[in-house]
Amino acid sequence: MTLENLSKEYKKSFWKSAKALNYLTIDRKLSEEVLDKFDVGYVTSGDDRVSKFLSGFITFPVRNKGKTVNIYGRYLGDCEVSHTTLPSIPKDYLYNEEALEKNAVILVESPIDVLTLDQYKFNSCAIMGTRLKNSLIDKFKNKLVFILFDNDTSGRIAAINLAQKLLQVTPKVHIVHFPSKRGGGDDPNSYFARAKRLPDLRLKFLLENSLPIKKKPVHKERKKREYLEGIDADVVAIGRILFKDSDYIDKGSELWVSCPKHNEGMERTRSLRIGGPKNVAWCFGCNKGGNAVFFVSWILDISIPEAVEWIRREIGI
Ligand SMILES: [Zn+2]
Repeated sequence: MTLENLSKEYKKSFWKSAKALNYLTIDRKLSEEVLDKFDVGYVTSGDDRVSKFLSGFITFPVRNKGKTVNIYGRYLGDCEVSHTTLPSIPKDYLYNEEALEKNAVILVESPIDVLTLDQYKFNSCAIMGTRLKNSLIDKFKNKLVFILFDNDTSGRIAAINLAQKLLQVTPKVHIVHFPSKRGGGDDPNSYFARAKRLPDLRLKFLLENSLPIKKKPVHKERKKREYLEGIDADVVAIGRILFKDSDYIDKGSELWVSCPKHNEGMERTRSLRIGGPKNVAWCFGCNKGGNAVFFVSWILDISIPEAVEWIRREIGI
């Protein structure tokens, strides 16, 4: 049976199970309309592998362009595995991905949060956990994203990390948390489930007053990138500048130079080869050499960052 048909079966069993229905409508305060709209199901029996795997789980079909591509399950009752998606199915989907058709989207952890927010007319999708796969980041390009994760330690750390990831594709990323209460903070569902007055207006206020997250400075990464670019610099071009006043042999793709680093600079046999297919410099007298950055640093007795700077200034990278 296809996932589509299985979901339909699970939906039927859901509406027959008082236990499942009570859990979502009474404990979680979700409306019957929203449970129907999102085709929530419950797995009681079935001989196929999917049903065996999801037995006892409340199910939320994960859709992509109208097709069921996975099923998210939340175990009903006490169990160590409280939620899951089907293994061996690519996880490159978000729950309620169609929320991304709008410009502004709230990003939450779980499908139950999506249903809760939908019930109050908020547009959201869930990453089914707290780690967003790299392959999904581009979907948020230029969106206004509000990360609304659980207000607990792991949720807060995950939100900060995710914000930095999303800033690669959009400048508009906000982190929103429900005010914490003693013993831990709310997730979207628990917030709405226990709120008495105007919870939607309070969330609207939180969203509107949240501040955009700034990109972390990337000094380290920039330095690394510059260094790598420096490595790729043309050593022959560098050699022509460093040895412009000496009597070197120019073979076009390689130069043969008297090495200033051995025989106290009196070397006359031109044992320093610069260039060739590997784009490196090598002295057969010193038995030493390397890429453009190392070469400049070695010959001029300057540090690696200074060598990168020198290369940038002299030949441009
Ligand atoms: Zn040498």
